[in-house]
Amino acid sequence: MTRIFSDPDAFVADALRGFAAAHREEVALVDGGVVRAQPLEPGRVAVLIGGGSGHYPAFAGFVGPGLAAGAVCGNIFTSPSTAQALRVARAADAGGGVLFTYGRYAGDVIHFGEAERRLRADGVDARTVLITDDVASAPLDARDERRGIAGILCVFHVAGAAAERGDSIDEVERLAAHANSRTRSHGVAFAGCTLPGADHPLFEVPDGVMSIGLGIHGEPGVRDVPLQTAPDLAVTLAEPLLAERPEGCTRAAVILNGLGSVKYEELFVLFGFVAEHLESRGIEIVEPECGEFVTSLDMAGVSLTVLWLDDELEELWRAPASAPGFRKGSVAGTASRGLRRDGATPRRNAEAAPATRVAASVATEASRRAALTVRRMLQQARDAVGAQVEHLGELDAVAGDGDHGIGMMRGLHAAVDASGAVDEGIGVRELLERAGDAWSETAGGTSGALWGAALAELGLALGDRDRYTSADVAAAVAAACRRVGEVGGAKLGDKTMLDAMGPFQEALTARVTAGEELAAALAVAASAAREGADATSAMTPRLGRARPLAERSVGHPDPGATSFWVIADAVAHAADAGTEVE
Ligand code: ADP
Ligand code: MG
Repeated sequence: MTRIFSDPDAFVADALRGFAAAHREEVALVDGGVVRAQPLEPGRVAVLIGGGSGHYPAFAGFVGPGLAAGAVCGNIFTSPSTAQALRVARAADAGGGVLFTYGRYAGDVIHFGEAERRLRADGVDARTVLITDDVASAPLDARDERRGIAGILCVFHVAGAAAERGDSIDEVERLAAHANSRTRSHGVAFAGCTLPGADHPLFEVPDGVMSIGLGIHGEPGVRDVPLQTAPDLAVTLAEPLLAERPEGCTRAAVILNGLGSVKYEELFVLFGFVAEHLESRGIEIVEPECGEFVTSLDMAGVSLTVLWLDDELEELWRAPASAPGFRKGSVAGTASRGLRRDGATPRRNAEAAPATRVAASVATEASRRAALTVRRMLQQARDAVGAQVEHLGELDAVAGDGDHGIGMMRGLHAAVDASGAVDEGIGVRELLERAGDAWSETAGGTSGALWGAALAELGLALGDRDRYTSADVAAAVAAACRRVGEVGGAKLGDKTMLDAMGPFQEALTARVTAGEELAAALAVAASAAREGADATSAMTPRLGRARPLAERSVGHPDPGATSFWVIADAVAHAADAGTEVE
């Protein structure tokens, strides 16, 4: 339950502002996150971390010597946008290359991946190491598909300490990947968390039960079992980690992490039994941590992480770190470089002014008329999704993080605002590009990235023509559909928005090819989208946040497919009300 907020929509921005004010000597606010108050030495590698908010001290609290150069901070449990990642990276870059490292989640991979590509295009040596420590989220033979939970701290510290001592980008990347390959975590949840402004938790665990294999975005565990006593819980948490111990390895860094509302005393009780169990299995524990490192708002739960050490990892794990949310060792000499003593306001506040847009290109008369139609469609889509926000959130909470309704609304509001530019005379190509950028930037998350890419592609395919035919519209929808497949890597049947979008596109093309008028063809296509979305109930998710909880999701339609048909239906109605397409 969140009791302290002003406007729930401004919760993250308000929290970040207050965090930067409270730690003004160590961090500086930039548009999209925080960077160190004192710039890196020229030529050093900038380690950049990030993801959704709601996990403090991850991510902003891990910015400092021996850890990250900057943190990109999205909305609650929602990946930041590409533009945010770019701004934070540019503010932190010191010429030695940029390493993005973060827990593997679809939305983060799409947005950070795009930021990496754009930095490279600008000549910055940008790399990525994904963190995949959660043993409950996929079997060992699919290790690359696992998600990141509290083990991210091991990788952040190893990479940050390597960067601090002046290692090259090749070395920092190699060591981060090596740390990830030897980091394992496993968690249990006792109760779900409540999003700011919401009045009930994302999931509930019945009395006397615990949910094994939690996620850190309010996703419930993958299976429920009876509550265990502390010694048994220690074994339950540790055994799957021990099962993946590298041969001959007997030394481990250990983190026992509280998810938000487990008391420190309870954590210590558990840590005692964990240490005993690991030692009984011949493990020597090296500089362990017991406390809150990667939380999930006020979720009740704990996770255990082991970093299986070798000589090079042990040296880095033991290295000092000094950040608002994590300190170890003596950082005298290193840390003082990182602190501002002059009390000045953080230097980078002014640097993040969004790029001003070039004047609207010359749009044809037909393109400007089509832009008016698209604006009306976006408005109706916003209203239709607005009526379903809670339902979409509940669908997403079944196996995901419950943010789909609010994420879609943020995106649609931003897209509608951007479409106000029709009054400046822009055409449909530019309008869709602006709306897509605004959607992706404002909504973040997986669906934000995909809808942003879809709208931009629609705009590109429609272009500025002298006239538009129904076939042009169908071809543009097909291009947008392909683009979503490329960006997200999903196929039909993976239980994503594509399972509504694919049937929509096919029906539209078929009807238009058969000579049907556009509004009528759109109505048929919208029904096909609805059938496609309904059919996702029976499917098992193979991608995205829902995959680790695949079984729970069976029997419920995919949230992204559901919002797609709601939008398709609104668009069809808007078209029926009058269309400027010939
Ligand atoms: P997040 O998963 O980042 O919280 P949302 O909750 O807004 O994002 O959106 C979830 C929806 O995104 C899913 O229901 C699914 O339809 C869609 N989705 C997730 N991953 C993919 C993907 N790789 N390709 C296409 N759609 C996807
Ligand atoms: Mg979600």
